[in-house]
Amino acid sequence: MWDETGLVLYAVDPGQYDLSRGELEAERVCRRAKTGGGTAVRLTAHSLLGHAYYPSEFAPLAFGYEYGRDYVGEFAEACRRHGLRFAPAVNVAANAAVAASRPDWRQIGPNGAPHGWGDVPVMCLNTGYLAHITDVVREVVARYGPDCLLLENVVTLDGCRCHGCEVALHDDTGLDLEAALGTEAYREWRYQRTERLAWNLAMAAKGLRGDLAVVFAGAAWRPGRGKAMGWRPERTAEWMDNLETGFAVRWYGHSLEEADLLGAYHRALRKTGWCWVEYAPRPYTVLACPPTELRLKAASVIAAGSRPVVWTLPPMPPADDSGLDTLGEFLAPFGGAPAALEPEASLARTAVLLSRTGDEATGRDTSEQARAWCTALSRERILWDFVLDGQLTRNGLAHYRVLVLPGTPYIPPREWAAVVDFVWAGGSVLLAGEATRYGPHGEALPDFAAAELLGVSYVGEGAASAGDYLRVADLPLTEAPRQPVPAGRCVAIRTDDAQALGSVLPGAADSLALPLGDAEEAPGITWRIHGGGRAAYFAGDAEAVVLGHGGTRFSAAEQLIGELVRWLGGERVRVRGGRDLSVHAHRVPGGAAVHLVARPPSDGRLFESVTPSGEIEIVVSQVLYVSGVRALDGTEVSWELANRRLRIVVRGVEEYRCLMIDGAV
Ligand SMILES: [Zn+2]
Repeated sequence: MWDETGLVLYAVDPGQYDLSRGELEAERVCRRAKTGGGTAVRLTAHSLLGHAYYPSEFAPLAFGYEYGRDYVGEFAEACRRHGLRFAPAVNVAANAAVAASRPDWRQIGPNGAPHGWGDVPVMCLNTGYLAHITDVVREVVARYGPDCLLLENVVTLDGCRCHGCEVALHDDTGLDLEAALGTEAYREWRYQRTERLAWNLAMAAKGLRGDLAVVFAGAAWRPGRGKAMGWRPERTAEWMDNLETGFAVRWYGHSLEEADLLGAYHRALRKTGWCWVEYAPRPYTVLACPPTELRLKAASVIAAGSRPVVWTLPPMPPADDSGLDTLGEFLAPFGGAPAALEPEASLARTAVLLSRTGDEATGRDTSEQARAWCTALSRERILWDFVLDGQLTRNGLAHYRVLVLPGTPYIPPREWAAVVDFVWAGGSVLLAGEATRYGPHGEALPDFAAAELLGVSYVGEGAASAGDYLRVADLPLTEAPRQPVPAGRCVAIRTDDAQALGSVLPGAADSLALPLGDAEEAPGITWRIHGGGRAAYFAGDAEAVVLGHGGTRFSAAEQLIGELVRWLGGERVRVRGGRDLSVHAHRVPGGAAVHLVARPPSDGRLFESVTPSGEIEIVVSQVLYVSGVRALDGTEVSWELANRRLRIVVRGVEEYRCLMIDGAV
């Protein structure tokens, strides 16, 4: 039985090893995984090139393969010997080997040319290729009896023009492919079709082994990536056993903060997903990353509520296994406190909408806007969650105090009604940029759909006059606010019933003064009260001011966003001190776990060391009772509970500390 409690995977890709030199030894890797805190091994069984690492009836053997060896079989046995669970991975869509003989099974792009990822051909699952890959999947499960099967890259191309797609679309809907491309009907068909194929593939495997867990890989956290895959993890989360987001933190330039996004996406799907922690700084390098960075990566993944997948390397000098020893020491305490790895719910009170619906209706990608808000909130140490389109309901929002709509261009009427109800029931909503400015077909509306709720109206591109509130397209909130704004670069907002944020947060007024004529005090944030809740509008572009896209980073923006969200009520866990600490808190069996990770600002270099943070005070509100607070590393923690507020004082966090709160939180 596949049990994900305390799971730490060790990932092995035989393609990284020189098989002709016999470098890949299942026994060595499994022994290492075991002593390094691992509980399962993930082995690539069928590669991106379509090669098998076992003698397959259907797929050719990999280059350099030593005749007679069966790597998958060797790993299956070694895992059993060491008490590790075994999870082979089968790459599904990419396949150079099959493409060579069946070019007609390839995905065809919009220009009529075969589609590929770089040099790797990508096959279409709406062709005879599906039967081939199903054979491979069944072969791996039947022969090796794994605990878990990972299906990687179950992908159909948006707008694939292959003959198989033409026939499948016509059979399913009667539609003609050429005419249907780009329409909602086509999009819906593609999703449903791919989801059905993914389900069939999973069931083909489970039919052979009933307790097999099937995990899908490669979805990332962006709905935009989901669009690229051609299916919707948020709809299929119910029947898939788990999801591996397939992104390595600080591998392809992902910052440690990316782990927060991946974890939040998994939580929104209600899955404990897996996130990669690479041992090496880059693929194909022989240099192991510093132990400090390895621990920070694993800590970031665990803190965000995900499970780490540890990438392993062949034994080439100067790489050695010291990093894995380090990781083993790091993971060991979790064995004694598995609850720290069992997040049941978030303690966040702020939700950021990650919308696929709005983006697809308008052809936009607001995932970077969402990321900007999340980054600002994390840096301000405000706990946040993602909510997905389907969670815009009374129940889905009941847990939260603040809902952020980060430039979400369109929200369908029923979901919007739920947002308005949320505000009248005492929640606060914060809209930004062009949120609700578009209709269901991507058409620009004369005014925000949220105009009445916000008490602001859209005036028009460049039509601002003195006294208007502004969103400046390319200079959303400039650090030199006294410079004149060039004509045509601003979107003007008129306030009807809204107040300036400066009237309640005096410090905010100066930093947000936008220049236009004489209106030097025009603020970028407005607010209005409805029943028990507040509706605020942020007239800036968070992607620019927080992430600095377009060279417009505004140093005070994060602080401003932090102040705003705190004022709106989105805070349950407050942390003072230790500026570079990132904080996560989850409800776990028997109480809560608070994870503190000292993450220095990333400048692209590897983390060799971390300067300890000084004294930190953590206040958790709405606590019923507490019988104890302990640190996982055994250091002493002082705490007191008064008026349902738990106050914890921690001295010095070198890299990572997990505090377990026993009680009702
Ligand atoms: Zn196709």
